[in-house]
Amino acid sequence: MISECEVFIGFGSNLGDRRALINQALQALSGLPTTSLSKLSSLYETVPVGYLEQGGFLNGVVLIQSSLAASDLLEQLLAIENRLGRVRKERWGPRTIDLDILFYGDNLIDEADLQVPHPELGNRLFVLEPLCEIAPSWFHPRLDGTISQLLLQYQLKHPEEVAGRIVAPPPMFALNEVRDGIFYRYG
Ligand code: ADP
Ligand code: MG
Repeated sequence: MISECEVFIGFGSNLGDRRALINQALQALSGLPTTSLSKLSSLYETVPVGYLEQGGFLNGVVLIQSSLAASDLLEQLLAIENRLGRVRKERWGPRTIDLDILFYGDNLIDEADLQVPHPELGNRLFVLEPLCEIAPSWFHPRLDGTISQLLLQYQLKHPEEVAGRIVAPPPMFALNEVRDGIFYRYG
């Protein structure tokens, strides 16, 4: 066991009941040993990148506090993906749920099956936007800038790209209310 660490997890779903799958994934995350959810972004409706012939995504980012080692956490994320019905076919293809470790504190990890910070983070608007919503001043130890700086750089480089649309969570939930282990940012 290691001391508690702030970990950002990016999630996305574009198959099935996306919101329900995300809720289940968040619930599963909050049930991991020595782990709790502490901040959740809005959900963003985004268009797929790479393989375009697929449905739109719902994306977001959650900050968790966890004492799981990074490799154990990755194993747990893959198990949650499998449990929620993810079948890996083409890379960047449709998926019920994708869970990525974006940051694990300010650790740098370079292993065959785990790279942290997530190497694509600076190139993905669907990650930068929700991340910036909950952690604008978080510092990226490799890219040498804060999340809000990285988002601005991205927007300057890709002025044509449309921002993800924020999907308002159900109106009956109060700000950050926890219901069934799920956080809702907006009331
Ligand atoms: P992507 O998330 O890039 O669309 P996949 O989810 O299919 O692709 O890729 C899964 C593999 O990526 C995992 O089996 C894992 O070993 C590897 N991987 C490397 N770095 C990370 C990370 N930071 N978070 C999650 N998976 C990672
Ligand atoms: Mg992934």
